[in-house]
Amino acid sequence: MTLKITPIRKDFPNLKDKIHGKPLAYLDNAATTLKPKQVIDAVSAYYSHYASNIHRAVHALSQKATLQYENTREKVRKFINAKNTAEIIFTSGTTESINLVAQSYVKTFLKANDEIIISEMEHHSNIVPWQIASKETGCTLKIIPVDNNGEIDLERFKELLSSKTKLVSITHTSNVLGTINPVKEIIRIAHGHHVPVLIDAAQAVGHQTIDVQDLDCDFLAFSAHKMYGPTGVGILYGKQNLLEAMAPYKTGGDMIDSVTFEKTTYRELPYKFEAGTPDIASVIGLGAAIDYINRVGLNKISSYEKTLLSYAIKELKNISGLQVVGSPSKKAPIISFVLDGIHPHDLGTILDEQGIAIRTGHLCTQPLLKRFGVLSLSRASLGIYNTPKDIDALVGGIKKAKKVFKC
Ligand code: PMP
Repeated sequence: MTLKITPIRKDFPNLKDKIHGKPLAYLDNAATTLKPKQVIDAVSAYYSHYASNIHRAVHALSQKATLQYENTREKVRKFINAKNTAEIIFTSGTTESINLVAQSYVKTFLKANDEIIISEMEHHSNIVPWQIASKETGCTLKIIPVDNNGEIDLERFKELLSSKTKLVSITHTSNVLGTINPVKEIIRIAHGHHVPVLIDAAQAVGHQTIDVQDLDCDFLAFSAHKMYGPTGVGILYGKQNLLEAMAPYKTGGDMIDSVTFEKTTYRELPYKFEAGTPDIASVIGLGAAIDYINRVGLNKISSYEKTLLSYAIKELKNISGLQVVGSPSKKAPIISFVLDGIHPHDLGTILDEQGIAIRTGHLCTQPLLKRFGVLSLSRASLGIYNTPKDIDALVGGIKKAKKVFKC
């Protein structure tokens, strides 16, 4: 099961560019991936040849745009194995998908003294929406702790569940530690208490197969831009019966059935949750990204990234003074680390001068960093076009930084 990397790299125009005169080693894929020309071409074709609004006009351009937009919905359905397209809502990203549930589901179903469970390893976008919704409804937020390996404490999770628990929202894959959580088990346990579960799949989709029926998750949120698609579009998958029972999130055009000054009735799913003109071009680009991933093959992607991750960890651990944070048993291709004597921001700057792109800072997970006693981290995260050469460049770059800082 090998990936043919050379033709894949040729598909990504960014990789031909020089950064500060050096070849680009792009290792910031957890923030966003680069885009293949197939995605760029699909977006450009919409703007060049059939730019128009969807769902609204009988003319040819609008018909074509609507068809491409709705074709993407079917591609997403198939990609995550949802039962039907009514369960696929286009949003602006993972963040908006989670906010939609936090506003609509929580306001519809939760009341004072109910409880929502999240974990200590969540991205801020899977913390803040629940905090706000909890405040508004009088609910309490409960937090599952993370152990020293960077894994969720399942026993503590079981203890936190009670008749007060009304929702669990948890990340599939940590954007810092790379931990792949046992989400199927977490969902099974929560369902034993009749508690629905939202899975934040932002760091999972595009790296491994996600099957919502197999997981039996109630909601799943992810972003196109982390899976080789455009920015500005995300997905909320939700079980149809839950979405049907939920109040609309945003309101306005396209989501209504009829409007009088006295009363408005709403359209059927998924349109009830898609008010206003969406990012049509990016949705169409997402369709091209799914085609791209399917053509390469998710199994091949997973196994290639796994091999590259092992190589990267081995090489990084050989650098004196470098500590990788967390060592979960199942890990996505994301490595966060600290380096004695060099602040992540300085390291990121020195690496950038060598054409190496990593992410530094709090990684939108301040509570998790606090848990590990750090304020800031450096993170290298891999994608389908990365090669051992990129890892070698990173290792060489870090060694150079150590020389500059004499440590
Ligand atoms: N959850 C996780 C685990 C993430 O890594 C990210 C992005 N870094 C998000 C949520 C938010 O995604 P977006 O910015 O695309 O809405």
